Amino acid sequence: MSTTTAPWTDEQVAALNVFQNQGRFHPFTCGRDHSGSSPVLTATPEGWRCPVDDCDYTQDWALKSMLDVGLEMTRVSPSCGTTQHCANHGFCTRCDPQLSSAALHLVRALHDAGVPDENSGEVYREMVVVLRQAVRGGRITSPEDNSKVGE
Ligand SMILES: [Zn+2]
Ligand SMILES: [Zn+2]
Repeated sequence: MSTTTAPWTDEQVAALNVFQNQGRFHPFTCGRDHSGSSPVLTATPEGWRCPVDDCDYTQDWALKSMLDVGLEMTRVSPSCGTTQHCANHGFCTRCDPQLSSAALHLVRALHDAGVPDENSGEVYREMVVVLRQAVRGGRITSPEDNSKVGE
């Protein structure tokens, strides 16, 4: 069983946390007694931490396979660059339909919130970064998309 030991890079930490949230394989949980509940551990550069405030449980190793699954899920698909949107934002409905359809909600939210045009581009860019990570991590899915998650 091959393992990886902390310290981990930012990329490895992100990949491990994506793994913890993907829902297909069982995540690492706290080894302490939390009266029946099993808090899902959070990866940090120094190792695993328990999310419960007063719990000092730590663990400094992970399975190599967890890292591989997480990295696979965070891997950025190459942008096609064939549309104006792709040129501006690195994705579009052609090369990344899932992210693109999720991003439509952002556009609507910006519009509904009355964000002025001169600011909306910047806000949109920041929001898409967060959205991209969430979509890739499988944390945002619509019910009809459940079958496609992780493929
Ligand atoms: Zn704990
Ligand atoms: Zn594209």
